[in-house]
Amino acid sequence: MSFLPFYIPRHAQLRILIIGAGYAGIAALVTVFRHMPRALVTIIDPRPHHLKITHLHETFRYPLEDFQIPFSMLENRYGCRHICAGLAWQADALLQWQNDKSILVNGEILEFDYALIASGSDPAPILESEIVAGLHDFMDIAGSDLWDARVGHDSDGIAEGPITVIGGGATGIQFLFEIAHFLKRRKIRRKLRLIHGDTRVLSPFPAGFSTYAQDRMSEMGIDFYPRTLYREQQRHEVVLEEMESGRQYALPSTFSFLFVGKTRSPLLSTNAFGQVLAGQKTLQNIFAAGDCSSFEAFGSNTCTAQSAVRKGILAARNMLRHSGSLKLLEPYLHRDLGYVISLGPEDAVGWLASEGNVITGMPALVIKEVVEAQYDLLLEGINSYLL
Ligand SMILES: Cc1cc2nc3c(=O)[nH]c(=O)nc-3n(C[C@H](O)[C@H](O)[C@H](O)COP(=O)(O)OP(=O)(O)OC[C@H]3O[C@@H](n4cnc5c(N)ncnc54)[C@H](O)[C@@H]3O)c2cc1C
Repeated sequence: MSFLPFYIPRHAQLRILIIGAGYAGIAALVTVFRHMPRALVTIIDPRPHHLKITHLHETFRYPLEDFQIPFSMLENRYGCRHICAGLAWQADALLQWQNDKSILVNGEILEFDYALIASGSDPAPILESEIVAGLHDFMDIAGSDLWDARVGHDSDGIAEGPITVIGGGATGIQFLFEIAHFLKRRKIRRKLRLIHGDTRVLSPFPAGFSTYAQDRMSEMGIDFYPRTLYREQQRHEVVLEEMESGRQYALPSTFSFLFVGKTRSPLLSTNAFGQVLAGQKTLQNIFAAGDCSSFEAFGSNTCTAQSAVRKGILAARNMLRHSGSLKLLEPYLHRDLGYVISLGPEDAVGWLASEGNVITGMPALVIKEVVEAQYDLLLEGINSYLL
């Protein structure tokens, strides 16, 4: 059992519910067991596995299974329990949970001392179609398999025609470069284009990110349509709209990949310690972490795995402290130390230490790998994060 500052235990065992076991939920799980090995933890998640979602674009070169950690494995390692369910809630329900210290899941009443809500954010919904795919599709099938099943040949059996990628944010760009490299590896000669609503790709990041990524796109022969909106993918063409003039036009295209962002509802506000705020009331025993949470604190609320992990660790520590004799909780102060976006298997662009410090190529790739290795260590129960 590891030492936790400001924690004088009063209980050997707490009943803890973790609702959503992505980056934040897993970070909390590992932290709880580190300081309270006999805790009774129940994970509630609709998936059968933890998904390392930050690698999803890499499934154009690796099997999806490489990024899935079955919850059964965590059950065996920690003695926790996984219930396969997706929980829906509103503010009233959370007040009720706090009062009852129990929730109903799959017809079973689960009593708890503390609950952590870490259900992430959902990809923006897209119109379902055989000739359009979005982030959601990649959660169930690897990129290469999706290509073979749905993109490789159109409904006329023709293996040609341009491919359209929509969205030049971090997710869209990572997928765009993976698709470009996948086509190159397979020697598939199909035109690739990117449609984006802004003047430059990766617009929330420093201008150096955009210049570097757009130069690499030109080198790879990817056409770029800035200030353009996607309207519809039809059988052989995609309908687009110029943002300035509103003019609509069509370009040849047999398939569209849509990466148009995420919805963040329901977003839970928490105090600086991670406890959920319901109006004026602080829910002492219900915490939130990850993309679904907004902490009223100095720390970063970005939708990143780094912030999710830090929030998850902090929430778990504060649950334990809250249950102890001192009840002295730690505020959330984490600031992101960098962010790296991969541009295919051999290139990346990112910042380190300060946003002005843009790094590219091999150094950026190495940093990305170090960050990912740190998370893999956490999955093995080794916490190398400094909060
Ligand atoms: C392709 C891609 C690449 C990315 N790359 C990076 C990167 O390089 N670096 C970085 O910092 N960030 C990256 N991100 C962002 C990062 O993945 C998220 O910020 C991070 O996953 C958020 O963690 P989370 O725990 O809040 O949510 P998630 O990791 O999404 O986990 C949420 C969990 O909750 C479960 N769940 C959902 N709804 C419910 C419900 N109703 N009840 C119970 N459980 C539920 C889900 O099944 C899931 O297991 C990337 C995202 C994508 C999509």
